[in-house]
Amino acid sequence: MSESKFQKNNNEIIIRKKEKLNLNILKTPLKQCRIIQKNLVYIIGLSQEIISKEKELRNFEYFGQYGKIIKLVINKNKIYYNNELNEPSYSCYITYSNETESSLAIIALENSIIDNHLIKASYGTTKYCSNFLKNSICMNKDCVYLHSIADSCDILSRDEMNKNKNIFEYQLLMAIHLS
Ligand SMILES: [Zn+2]
Repeated sequence: MSESKFQKNNNEIIIRKKEKLNLNILKTPLKQCRIIQKNLVYIIGLSQEIISKEKELRNFEYFGQYGKIIKLVINKNKIYYNNELNEPSYSCYITYSNETESSLAIIALENSIIDNHLIKASYGTTKYCSNFLKNSICMNKDCVYLHSIADSCDILSRDEMNKNKNIFEYQLLMAIHLS
C-alpha cells in the first residue's frame, strides 16, 4: 500500500472511531470522562530489571531517544502479572515536551519487547478538575487536572477506557497521524 493510501485509510479509521467515541461521551457524565493528554505516554509491561534503572530511563538508550522528557513516574505500587512470563510488570508515565515526541514513543514502543516483556504504550489521560466541574476557581496551583472543556476528539468515556480492547490500536493510529 502506498504511503498516501495508508494515511487516507488511517484517517478514515480515526474519523469512524471518533464518531463512535463521541456517541459514548455524550452518555458519560463529565466527572467520569478521561481526556487524552497528547504529550503524556502510558507504558505497561516494564520488567523489574528495567524499573531498577529508573535514573537511566530518561537517557537516549531508553525513553529519551524519542524526545525531551519533562517527567517520568514509575508506578511501583501497581504490579501486573499479565504476561506469559509470570514475572512482575510495572507501568510508568512519561511526559514529553510535545505531542510529536510522545507519538513517536508510542509508535516505537507499542507491542515492542524490552527485557523479554511485551510493552504496551498509549497516551496517558487526565480528568476534569472537580473545582472546574463545580464552576468554582481551583486554588490548587499544582492541580494536574483539566480546567477547560476538552476537544471532544480527546475525550474517552470510562466505558471506552474499561472495555475497548482496541484502545491501543486506535491510539497507535492516532500517534501515526500526529507524528
Ligand atoms: Zn484544579
